[in-house]
This record gives sequence, structure tokens and C-alpha cells, in this order.
Amino acid sequence: MLDWNGMGVSVMEMSHRSDEYVAIAEKAEQDLRDLLAIPSDYKVLFLQGGASQQFAEVALNLLPEDGVADYIDTGIWSKKSIEEASRYGRVNVAASAKGYDYFAIPGQNEWQLSKDAAYVHYASNETIGGLQFDWIPSVGDTPLVVDMSSDILSREIDVSKFGLIYAGAQKNIGPSGLVVSIVREDLLGRARSSCPTMLNYKVAADNGSMYNTPATYSWYLSGLVFEWLKEQGGVAAMEQRNKAKKDLLYKAIDASDFYSNPIAINARSWMNVPFRLADEKLDKVFLAGADARGLLNLKGHRSVGGMRASIYNATGLDAVEALVAYMAEFEKEHG
Ligand SMILES: *Cc1c(COP(=O)(O)O)cnc(C)c1O
Repeated sequence: MLDWNGMGVSVMEMSHRSDEYVAIAEKAEQDLRDLLAIPSDYKVLFLQGGASQQFAEVALNLLPEDGVADYIDTGIWSKKSIEEASRYGRVNVAASAKGYDYFAIPGQNEWQLSKDAAYVHYASNETIGGLQFDWIPSVGDTPLVVDMSSDILSREIDVSKFGLIYAGAQKNIGPSGLVVSIVREDLLGRARSSCPTMLNYKVAADNGSMYNTPATYSWYLSGLVFEWLKEQGGVAAMEQRNKAKKDLLYKAIDASDFYSNPIAINARSWMNVPFRLADEKLDKVFLAGADARGLLNLKGHRSVGGMRASIYNATGLDAVEALVAYMAEFEKEHG
């Protein structure tokens, strides 16, 4: 941290234009390209403002003032992206999981896509509701835009199916504040004239994500995570590991009358597993016992209640095994 490669300085202290830092930045990008097999006609941007800033940035770059964009509503994050895009142009909510109480994802046969949409936007994993697409929408020549903040790098995807992928870093990539956007080159240069320079994908792409000083240390740390992922065997190996983790946890929930998860089987998230106890009066006791065992952050989002196990790439199978063992013990005692 304090002395990079014997230089006597921290990466934090380096100029972002120095040869040393540029090498760090380029290596991180290349490793991410390798991990996701990103085709050469895509730019990889290391931006700031988190995924939430992308909600506006997507519209400012891709939605013409007199155009329309199609959005799929599957929960809290897609709703936020819809609200934000609506500030800049016409949004057609082409499908909503509301009719399924946000427990299932409407199939594409139920979508009411516009004829001339500038793009179709969805969130591949709803982090709070625990609802995840296990398929990639097929929208013809319309650019497909996805918020992949909470499941990027968790399983294999075909990048070429997308016009734009963005992901806030803090779930599967690195420190918060950074956001990675992977954008197909033909979508650059469409920003409306009022788009702030700092939010213009083309400006970012033309300047190697260094129009201004980037979040150098976050970029560096993300690069270390990419190296770690490669050492683990890459995304295919993470997919296997994540599958084992979620199978174990859902199996434990389904095998018990004490715990429940309401999400349709094919839409259950591999990354965020919400579950409820039979009696919510026991929630506090459950959480206190979990804390005492080092099983942290299991309280569900305040808007949903109950429990939520976020089992991102960094969580090992051993942690899920410990959780499942604790759940069985708790049920024996209180069930
Ligand atoms: C966490 C999250 C966000 C918000 O990310 P920020 O970096 O905090 O703006 C957006 N979308 C999804 C799917 C998320 O999981």
C-alpha cells in the first residue's frame, strides 16, 4: 500500500499520467477484457459516481430529446433508473414485475416494446428483491443496456449481446464510487449537446477514462480483484462456485417450513438471497445469533424486511455452509 514495486511511493501518490500508473490502469482493463471476453469494438470505461450516476448518464448519451427508451421494471433499482431517465425524455415501461408482486420476471412475450426505442434498459439482478434474469432479452437491432452492478463477473455472459453494460464497483469489482461501463463503439458520439462533458461516454473513451483525474486507487484495487479472479480460474470458475453457494442456500430454505423465499425458481438471484423466518418476532434473535458467529449483514433491506444473504464473488462456499448450519441450529431451537 505504501510502497509500490519498491518505488517508495503509494499508487495513491502517483500521477495518473505517469508511466507506472498508466501501466496499472491498462493492465486492469486488459484483465477485465480477458475475464469477460470483451470484443475489441467495445470501450471499457472506469468512471465515477457509482451506478446511480449511470441512470442519468445512459439517458443523456443515448436518449434523443424527442426519442423514447424502453425500460423493464423488476424492482427498486430499475425503478430508480426509470425515474432518472424520465427527467430527460420519454420512457416507456415496457414490462413490470409489479403484476407478480416483484416475485417473478415477466417473460418477453409480455413486453410492450416501442417501435423506435433508442435502447432497452433492464437490471440483470435486483439486489434488494433478490430477483435475477437467467436469460438475456433479445431486442433485435435496438441497443440493449443493462445495469449489471450486482452480478457482473459472477457468471459467464456474452458481451456482444449488449450495447452497454454498466456496474457500480462495490459488489463484485472493487471500492464504491467507481463504476465500470462497457460500451459498444457505435453508441459513442450520440450524447445530446446539453450532456455534461464529464458524463459524455465519448469524451471518456477518447481520453482513456482520464478526461480528469480518475479514481486512481479504486481503479488499481479493482485491477487486483481482476487478478484474483483470474487466479481463481476466471468467470467460469466463479460461476461454478456461485452456483454451489446458491444451490446450498436455497435448498436449505426450501427444505424447511421455518424459512421461506418467495421468488419464482427461475428468477432467484444467485447473489442476493432474501429469506423470511416463520415468525418475524424472531428476526432480532436470529440476527444477534448470526452476528455472534461472525455472519454479518444478514438484515434484509428496510424496504423488504426479513433477511438477505448477499453472497457475492468474495463470499466463499465455507461462509454459506456456516450460514446454513446456523439456520438449522436456530430452527431446531426456535422452530
Ligand atoms: C448497488 C446498486 C446500484 C447503485 O449503485 P451505486 O454505486 O451506489 O450508485 C444500482 N443498481 C444495482 C443493481 C445495484 O445493486
